[in-house]
Amino acid sequence: MFEAECRFCGTPAGGINGYFDCPCCGKYVIPEDSIFIDAEPGFVEIKHLLSGYIREMNDYSEIPTVSKTNYISLLKHSIVPTTVLQKIDKLIQLVYRQTKALFQTIPIPLQPSVAYCLNQEEFLAVLRAAEELGYLAPHEEAMVIKSPINRHLTIKGLQRAEELRSANPTSKQCFVAMWFDDSMLQGFEGFIAPAIEETGYEAFIIPMKEHNDDITDHIIAEIRRSKFIIADFTGHRGGVYFEAGFAYGLGLPVIWSCREDWFNPVKDSSRRIHFDIDHYNFIVWKDGEDLKEKLRNRIRATII
Ligand SMILES: [Zn+2]
Repeated sequence: MFEAECRFCGTPAGGINGYFDCPCCGKYVIPEDSIFIDAEPGFVEIKHLLSGYIREMNDYSEIPTVSKTNYISLLKHSIVPTTVLQKIDKLIQLVYRQTKALFQTIPIPLQPSVAYCLNQEEFLAVLRAAEELGYLAPHEEAMVIKSPINRHLTIKGLQRAEELRSANPTSKQCFVAMWFDDSMLQGFEGFIAPAIEETGYEAFIIPMKEHNDDITDHIIAEIRRSKFIIADFTGHRGGVYFEAGFAYGLGLPVIWSCREDWFNPVKDSSRRIHFDIDHYNFIVWKDGEDLKEKLRNRIRATII
């Protein structure tokens, strides 16, 4: 371990073999060929957004890799704010993630990256705006700005945060990503679609829709207008991995499922689910009735 300066915020950050641990941004990896990423064109203007991105990904238990080839594209991730007002939402969401009880006081570190801000001045302006909009209220003894800043979410702030949890709060559509094998299609008709409909949503799979041009455009558009998706990994179709990843990146809730003989089979290890996603809370099912019941319960528990 040696002391290195964080490439994104300038704070001393322990680093070994390209693995950094910054007290402001969090943990991240910079590959060896990108160790001078701060000399790349345009880096200075966007490093605060990358700092915010790393920090938020850490909140989701992800350690991002930032390289000179991907640092621009990381900013296209749906979690990165693109407008000034979205920075206020970021601050609300940060406080919301830590709030476990009504009006609980949350210490907000006086670090601009928590709201993807350029500097402290912008961060304090975002904080003030969140208060003026009635989302955040100060702890009564903490009117003075010092780090950490103690604030709690008002009812209005909690409502705003919950609205933001769903990318499409008013949508009734559930996109189903699955293997289009005959037995699975029967499973869709007989069990998956009814489970979705019984919870008040509409099931959507791409073969239902006529299309002449690029199917990927349709898939993207339909996922974008869905409230959540069900991704069934039985058969390990590449398309399902793509669609689940895209929805996940958009911030949509993903219900992960897989028939037990394709999840972690003892006999055929080639059927094992990919390790990138095996830690998600999978519904592992035996037959259609089992899937229907578990899906219905999961939708009721996590979506409604
Ligand atoms: Zn940092």
